[in-house]
Amino acid sequence: MTYVIVGGGLAAAKAAQALREQGYEGRLVVVGAEPHLPYERPPLSKSYLQGKSEREKIFVHDAAWYAEQRVEVLTGTSVTAIDRAAHEVTLSTGGKLGYAKLLLATGATPRRLPGDALYLRTVDDSERLRDVLASASRIAIVGAGWIGLEVAAAARAAGVDVTVLEAGSQPLLRVLGERIGAAFADLHRANGVDLRLGVKVEEISGGVRLADGTRVEADAVIAGIGVEPDTRLAAAAGLQVDDGVLVDASLRTSDPDIFAAGDVARAHHPLLDTHIRVEHWANALNQPAVAARAMLGQDATYDRLPYFYTDQYDLGMEYTGYVRPGQADDVVIRGDLAGREYIAFWLSDGKVVAGMNVNIWDVTDDIKALINSGAPADRAKLADPTIPLADTLA
Ligand SMILES: Cc1cc2nc3c(=O)[nH]c(=O)nc-3n(C[C@H](O)[C@H](O)[C@H](O)COP(=O)(O)OP(=O)(O)OC[C@H]3O[C@@H](n4cnc5c(N)ncnc54)[C@H](O)[C@@H]3O)c2cc1C
Repeated sequence: MTYVIVGGGLAAAKAAQALREQGYEGRLVVVGAEPHLPYERPPLSKSYLQGKSEREKIFVHDAAWYAEQRVEVLTGTSVTAIDRAAHEVTLSTGGKLGYAKLLLATGATPRRLPGDALYLRTVDDSERLRDVLASASRIAIVGAGWIGLEVAAAARAAGVDVTVLEAGSQPLLRVLGERIGAAFADLHRANGVDLRLGVKVEEISGGVRLADGTRVEADAVIAGIGVEPDTRLAAAAGLQVDDGVLVDASLRTSDPDIFAAGDVARAHHPLLDTHIRVEHWANALNQPAVAARAMLGQDATYDRLPYFYTDQYDLGMEYTGYVRPGQADDVVIRGDLAGREYIAFWLSDGKVVAGMNVNIWDVTDDIKALINSGAPADRAKLADPTIPLADTLA
């Protein structure tokens, strides 16, 4: 009996680990397209990009771990097709591999623009960009999302002039809304970034031409305009796909022997009672344990709230929760927004649906508890830093 994991990222490595921890003794194969063992991506736009952390530190496990655990990792190999009836996958190297259970952990890939922009997804991308930052005097970044802003911070740390071009009225608008988005705009401007909002990129070619004719000169252009889940295999195999591979709360696809986890999975969330796809590290870290249990026929559901973090300049933050588009009707700030030491709460019908702690730590559990309570919060208490978070329900 063979269990096959497709994808060589964090979710793949954690799934292999969880299967062994849950007592799976059979053959276990991870098939990953990249030429590297599975590694973590967050440092690629932060410490690793800035040359502050070593390459060995980014790997989820070292080669010895896979050998000890009898996990076969086929690096530099893609799965090109799934034959569900025969229970086998086709490999780019030519062979076929039978499976009893299959996990799709194919992640996501950057959306592309026409022209000669650089992208940041892999360790190779990060190393290329590090070389660019070492020699460039000015760069342009298209997109003020998490990746674009983290690259902007790394570039400023390297002494490079940075222009960020964003179509929206604020950075991170879709996730954070106008007010908190504006706080991130202030952060980057305070650190010398030329942030241009509400602009449309017309052409990328040795710099950027905007729709209004303005030319932004740059030694390199980096685009961070979001990612697409890598659903090609699943779709070709006739699995249900809708901006991600659709899975139930046990991370099972429409085929009972095929599962999905990490950036590629759109999973039913039992507490939020909707399908969500989460493109963040904690999800790729924690979902695989549930997928592994389900693959082994055990009852398991994934009900953790989405969580992510970022580091930019001297700002560190954690965000917990999930806000449906248009759901938040109120934002409450506890602390000093301008001084970048605060917690922001997003409310819907008086209840906290998400919270973001900026340069304040060890409050994630309290924020989670507020959200999971599903009870209305007292606005004034939420805004008052002297009142413990646990005492802020109405
Ligand atoms: C630069 C960067 C910084 C980030 N920073 C943060 C952060 O600060 N906080 C946070 O919460 N999240 C962050 N993230 C997001 C986080 O890294 C992702 O959520 C996480 O990597 C998802 O893991 P995954 O294993 O699901 O997918 P991926 O990491 O995308 O891995 C999928 C792997 O599968 C391979 N693959 C795809 N198709 C096939 C196939 N057919 N056959 C074989 N292999 C295949 C791909 O090549 C890839 O190696 C960051 C991401 C990037 C790129």
